[in-house]
Amino acid sequence: MTTKALIIPAAGLGKRLKQQIPKPFLKLSGRPILEYTLQRFLPLEGLVQIIVTTSEDFLDVARQILKNKVPESLKATAIAGGKERQHSIRHALNELSDVDLVIIHDAVRPFIKLSHIEACCKTASEMGAAIVGVPAQNTIKEVDEDRFIRQTPNRKCLWQAQTPQVFKKQLIAEAYGKAVKENYVGTDDASLVERLGRKVKVVEGSQFNFKITYPADLKLAQLLIEEEHE
Ligand code: C5P
Repeated sequence: MTTKALIIPAAGLGKRLKQQIPKPFLKLSGRPILEYTLQRFLPLEGLVQIIVTTSEDFLDVARQILKNKVPESLKATAIAGGKERQHSIRHALNELSDVDLVIIHDAVRPFIKLSHIEACCKTASEMGAAIVGVPAQNTIKEVDEDRFIRQTPNRKCLWQAQTPQVFKKQLIAEAYGKAVKENYVGTDDASLVERLGRKVKVVEGSQFNFKITYPADLKLAQLLIEEEHE
């Protein structure tokens, strides 16, 4: 069986949401978003470790959630994150057990489907690296500093990256090592693997796996949770 560790970055401040509490700890129907996200992964076969990264102020809250929701057979820890998401992940990579695959999933994507997690893990086992994504629904413009359009990439080739992003342990460790050495900060984990010249496959997911970022996302998330629990 393929053994897996799950890293959930939850150390963001959520400035775009204009709330005091960081996004993963905002509540939907009385429960923190992090809790919903975490629970999607618990039935995953081969999962042996969970690491959540949070800001110092929320470490105790995260530890309590892990204690209440994660079976004792799983090694679950909360550690302090870093300034950027990438720094948070790097801290977590240092804590990894000896596993085959590392799954990285944003705390603020609580609607990920188990079947998409499983498909992504299967592809990563075969190819070394895989991410969940969806075809771009809008035409995307590349613009210059003055916001004049520079070019319009062919939409057929554009996919929006989501998480989970899954990698063989050795590969993601190597990718992060190179990024640190070269002082590179990317906006997702796959981009660091791409910089090694290694292939990353995109597995088709769903629009429901959106990242709660803006106030409208939070409203939609609340409606979807209510619908799920009807
Ligand atoms: O900021 P963004 O929406 O890209 O954050 C994606 C995820 O990364 C969120 O779950 C957030 O809590 C986490 N994050 C983190 N450490 C940071 C910034 C973001 O763990 N320094």
